[in-house]
Amino acid sequence: MKRISCLMMLALGVVMAGCGGSGKTEGVSENPFLQPFTTKYGVPPFDEIKMEFYEPAVRELMGRQDQEIKSIVDNPDTATFENTVVALSYSGKDLDRVSAVFFNLIEAIASPEMQALAEKLSPLFSEHEDNILLNDKLFARVKRVYEQREALGLRGEDRRLVEETYKRFVRAGANLNDEDKGTLREINLALSKASLKFGQNLLAETNGMELLLSDSSQLAGLPDGVRAAAAQSAREAGKAGWRFTPHKPSLLPFLTYCESPELRAELYKTYYTRGDRGNEFDNKELVRTIVNLRLQKAKLLGFSSYADYVLDNRMAKTPEAAMEVLNALWVNALASAKNERKELERAMRAEGRQTALSAADWWYYTEKVRKEKYDIDEEMLRPYLSIDSVRNGVFELARRLYGITFRRDTALPVYQKDVEAYEVLNEDGSHLAVIYFDYYPRAGKSAGAWCTTFQAQYTRPTGENVAPVVSIVCNFTPPAADQPALLSFDETETLFHEFGHALHAFFSKIKYPSLGDVPRDFVEMPSQLMEHWASHPQFLRVYAHHYKTGEAMPEELINKLTASKHFNNGFTATELTAASLLDMYYHMRQEPLTDDVDLFEKTRMEEIGLIPEILPRYRSTYFSHIFDGGYAAGYYGYSWSEMLDADVFQAFVERGDIFSREVAGAFREKILQNGGTKDALEMFKDFRGRGPKIDALLENRGFTKGKQEK
Ligand SMILES: [Zn+2]
Repeated sequence: MKRISCLMMLALGVVMAGCGGSGKTEGVSENPFLQPFTTKYGVPPFDEIKMEFYEPAVRELMGRQDQEIKSIVDNPDTATFENTVVALSYSGKDLDRVSAVFFNLIEAIASPEMQALAEKLSPLFSEHEDNILLNDKLFARVKRVYEQREALGLRGEDRRLVEETYKRFVRAGANLNDEDKGTLREINLALSKASLKFGQNLLAETNGMELLLSDSSQLAGLPDGVRAAAAQSAREAGKAGWRFTPHKPSLLPFLTYCESPELRAELYKTYYTRGDRGNEFDNKELVRTIVNLRLQKAKLLGFSSYADYVLDNRMAKTPEAAMEVLNALWVNALASAKNERKELERAMRAEGRQTALSAADWWYYTEKVRKEKYDIDEEMLRPYLSIDSVRNGVFELARRLYGITFRRDTALPVYQKDVEAYEVLNEDGSHLAVIYFDYYPRAGKSAGAWCTTFQAQYTRPTGENVAPVVSIVCNFTPPAADQPALLSFDETETLFHEFGHALHAFFSKIKYPSLGDVPRDFVEMPSQLMEHWASHPQFLRVYAHHYKTGEAMPEELINKLTASKHFNNGFTATELTAASLLDMYYHMRQEPLTDDVDLFEKTRMEEIGLIPEILPRYRSTYFSHIFDGGYAAGYYGYSWSEMLDADVFQAFVERGDIFSREVAGAFREKILQNGGTKDALEMFKDFRGRGPKIDALLENRGFTKGKQEK
């Protein structure tokens, strides 16, 4: 049950607003970003977008938001909910149009020009946001409304909007004196530059490393599909032989099947030394810089650590609450991983190898043990998991649970020819959303898988609904010359996962655009929930069909898959929890980090007893979620969300029907449609009738007493 982690980038630039706009207007007539998109469903006109449109549009539309802010501030009337808080929530919608396209495409099809422009624009966006959130006159008006919220009789979403808006200003430093505000601006700018550099270094390291094999005897053990992909990769790089890289779709099959321990170790090393090789792309100093700048920022804002600052705005509320769940999980995960290690060592001895098991051996012997115990390997499953079977599977699940349907629309513009666009329809046939699928790796695409929006749902002041435009981006095993893309089970779960984020975006039914965000420790719950169906026998029978014969996955194979459900869970929970703890150790610090980053990581991991055969899911120098993404002091959110999703799925199980329209309907109404308009814990309690419990997670992972892998 490995899970490719994903980044959710909902509602990009929602609070961004401000300054720096020079009001340049060149190219107004043909620059499609400068007016609302006139395409069907308002999707971005990808076929008309040119590189040279981005910067003028960003500057022009930042200027436009500056004007919107200025008219709020200059309003001679006393501050009211409508003329200040609501007006602010709707400001910057034009800017979102261009920022959503730019920041989404730089993850999916980055070019050197786009990267150079990102380097130029990112500080501009930081500054623009600061200019709004540190605008004294604007804050004074917001504060006035906030202080009168009770007297004004604001309730529900209106009340939430006032409170969240006020909090956003305070968290950005609005209550600081001028000198401290200046310091905060400098910190934010430095952080934005350091994070960008971290990401660029990592991309260069990942794309710049390879293992090139020229002798076919070195391929012993590798399945044909893996060899073919490696040969193709070599050809594309203009080289002879077979090319393997640190990208997961190349790395993991190699580690799983390559018979040579030396070659496994060599390729694995290209993966885990990224950003840690003392070259021009080394990330160690950047990690320390980022951690210390964040601590400085937290202290300036009155928190004792960056984790305290971050968690204050999350469902968990305090680092202690998050650590309680992580620690409970860690003890169980590590015990289970140690049992698994014994099994792997036994398999290794059986092969006649007497050396110590290494981290690079884990996948190889895990596959041996899996085959021996369950007579199942990834390759047996793939023919039943073609991209069509899996995508149609998630569509069918959405139809059963929520009654929505999907219709391919080849007339919609796409940003790359292999991207697919679908219209999503409500049960009554009306338009609900648009979704794009971008399945396969390409140069310039970030690693992993994620779901994002080009347009998040909200309601215009006129009452008109703005329908969401959603995108799922993956790095799946691509099709080979003579067969469609056949996914691993892991990739299958990933598509279900990302689709859960998409459902969350589809069903959003909120009024104010700035209330679309949900806390990071809640956002993975609807996505991880979907994975429960991916592996459920009742649903496997529905969606897993052989790509050639159309036959359903044989019962025997389904039984084997079910029997092996808890297999290797100790490993996956251990690497995930170790990374979550590493994140918390960096960000719960109350003193600056002076240690060398490698030493810090090593010491902390030894303290918690991490075994040397397992590395944290991400080591510090390539932990982009926390150093170049929004997951700082938030990676625990995957486990926290897992506690929630296991508990939510339990509601379907308790009903005795995993396709219950009634339970799904309540889930949609009490959670999915509310976006960030309610407190996450309150929404959960509303659905479940109580707060979350960890029991279902431990049982689901097979960690319940007496059930561990022996
Ligand atoms: Zn996710």
